Amino acid sequence: MSDRQSWLRGLPPVHALLADERVRDSAIGLTDGVITSVLRRHLATERAAILGGSPPNEDLVGAVAAELDLINGKRTARVINGSGVVIQTNLGRAPVSAATASAMASVAASYIALETDLASGKRGGRGREVEVLMRALTGAERTLVVNNNAAAVMLVLAALAIDRQVVVSRGEAVEIGGGFRIPDVLRQSGAHLVEVGTTNRTYVRDYEAAITDETAAILRVHASNFAVLGFTARPELSDLAELSHRRGIACIEDVGSGCLLETETFGLDHEPTLAESIAAGVDVVCASGDKLLGGPQAGLIIGSAEVVGRVARHPLARALRADKTCLAGIAETLRHYARGEAESEIPVWWSMSRTPKWLEQRARGWASKLGRGVEVVATESVVGGGSLPGKTQPSFGIALHSASCGAAQLAAILRTGSQPVVPRIINDSVVIDARTVLAEQDAQLLEAVRSALAGVGDSASA
Ligand SMILES: *Cc1c(COP(=O)(O)O)cnc(C)c1O
Repeated sequence: MSDRQSWLRGLPPVHALLADERVRDSAIGLTDGVITSVLRRHLATERAAILGGSPPNEDLVGAVAAELDLINGKRTARVINGSGVVIQTNLGRAPVSAATASAMASVAASYIALETDLASGKRGGRGREVEVLMRALTGAERTLVVNNNAAAVMLVLAALAIDRQVVVSRGEAVEIGGGFRIPDVLRQSGAHLVEVGTTNRTYVRDYEAAITDETAAILRVHASNFAVLGFTARPELSDLAELSHRRGIACIEDVGSGCLLETETFGLDHEPTLAESIAAGVDVVCASGDKLLGGPQAGLIIGSAEVVGRVARHPLARALRADKTCLAGIAETLRHYARGEAESEIPVWWSMSRTPKWLEQRARGWASKLGRGVEVVATESVVGGGSLPGKTQPSFGIALHSASCGAAQLAAILRTGSQPVVPRIINDSVVIDARTVLAEQDAQLLEAVRSALAGVGDSASA
């Protein structure tokens, strides 16, 4: 009891917190209203915690300063990805190309002819650029862009199959990443799931036997982040499309990544492409914009003019529609494919197309500049982001050794520096994989590593 009282009495008043140098530094430029709101709330939370029996936060000033820094945007938002995972959902998935970033910034800061035909002055179509590009690249008659692929699948099911049945292979009624479960998405959309086949083997005849008057569609889901190996069977996409059309229902595919290039070229397994799905006769394909497409977050709904048109007319389409920066970003990203320059311009493809020899040279260059305590190591990088599960690419990186601190601690120092670096830990050493560090980040990386090593008292000299 007396503990609590002395803790409460020990809480600083607002003006004392305000007088602290760290707090004052972090608060530069903010309004008095915002600063006092942050201080008061921290003090109130602290008081409530003490009354609840918890000891006081020993670094209240640190917590207040950290929140003010966040409000002030003091830390760089840019993180160097040394994890060896090219499409890393925790790090914001695909970084967009420089041209894409500038196209997005340019439309964000201006009025644009988003829904106006400038020639006639009449109302014009939204997303026409993306549609024309997508048609040229995949053969899809029509494209609709929404917030993300989860929204795309939800919208397509709601528009085509509400209160009706959708046939899905038992092996595909799965969970794909945080919170995206096919059975739940179907339920939310108002469609009824009919599972057919078995976890490892499903045949066209299984789908056919399940089709009734109540059936609206067959849904095919790409196993984006897991692989079923061994005794497996899965119908050809074209056979499912043919069956759907013969029975007068829709063939829907959730392909996940939305790949436009042949992944085999880079020593990886085949990842289905959007063009293949359209050629197979699928009515409507849903894909992400920020996985292998390499653009901003988006859900792409592509397919026949008739079916995508029905989807576009559903009221949910208005609620889930992409904004002007997203549409400009997807269009600019698609232009790189149209010009055959994806590997040099789109960061995820730049990373995936680096050869082991090139990566080894890059890592050697870093090591020679960093000096002692840094060693070049062979690694395996992965595509990630729900693409090509279990498949790796040979890569190289640098391993950092510190005489005075362990791997986990050194990794934490790298992550929390003024230029954060996210490394990986392999066999108890901190490794920065050369494949995922962006082309223009060498100098920042070296600077960040030097200051991390200096921080733990190990000097790496040039
Ligand atoms: C990633 C993925 C999703 C979810 O896409 P988001 O763009 O993250 O919403 C849905 N289905 C499949 C098959 C996926 O791979």
